[in-house]
Amino acid sequence: MLEKKFVHTFKSKNFDNRSKKSKIKYIILHYTETKNLNDAIKLLCSKKRKVSAHYVIDLDGKIYLLVEDTKRAWHAGLSSWKNEKYLNETSIGIEIVNEGEQKKKKYPKIQIKSVILLLKYLKNKFQIKKTNILAHSDIAPTRKIDPGVFFPWEELAKNSLSNFSKIKREKNDFDMLTPEELVFFFNCLKILGFHETEVNGSFSKNKLISNAFHRHYFPQLINKKPRRISVRLIKKIINLTKNI
Ligand SMILES: [Zn+2]
Repeated sequence: MLEKKFVHTFKSKNFDNRSKKSKIKYIILHYTETKNLNDAIKLLCSKKRKVSAHYVIDLDGKIYLLVEDTKRAWHAGLSSWKNEKYLNETSIGIEIVNEGEQKKKKYPKIQIKSVILLLKYLKNKFQIKKTNILAHSDIAPTRKIDPGVFFPWEELAKNSLSNFSKIKREKNDFDMLTPEELVFFFNCLKILGFHETEVNGSFSKNKLISNAFHRHYFPQLINKKPRRISVRLIKKIINLTKNI
């Protein structure tokens, strides 16, 4: 049983009660943006900061339980996905020790092995759909970029823990979209779950949301306008989502 391996050395008081009606439906993945576990624990247990997560996974793969699953940890902040807002209420938050995307540090294999074990355990325990295992950047695309471009979504998908999908490349993949196609792409972002997308907005309005999509599924296009491949990819992802 995985829970026997959880380390209980540190506890965070930064939580409150979930409302009685809410069911745990999502798992949100974060990185700590700290060099090590100690700095992460300090932050997640600080009374002043008022942030926490249910679990922290160290670089060596150890899993720390800071807040019980039944409680509402404060990890998501202002967030939305599909028609839901404030996802702390319906989610489990997992912080993964990592210095952050800008530092270009890859996630060690042993750490990802624990991420996968913990996700399998939680997915099974709460009957969570793989399409509801999301990045903090998915649910707060205008504020957050974690767990960043180095997070191995593809590896999770191999274990049925994410809806990441590869796509066959075509010649015109990097062609620009027409204005109509751009609107179609924004509409797809909204259907997928990016609640704040302004379907009739401009690329500059939707840039951060478009970046969040690409950061998760096709990082090559971060900070670039969506291309034809973005449309083919999001259509594929939405279909996968529907089939599950
Ligand atoms: Zn986060």
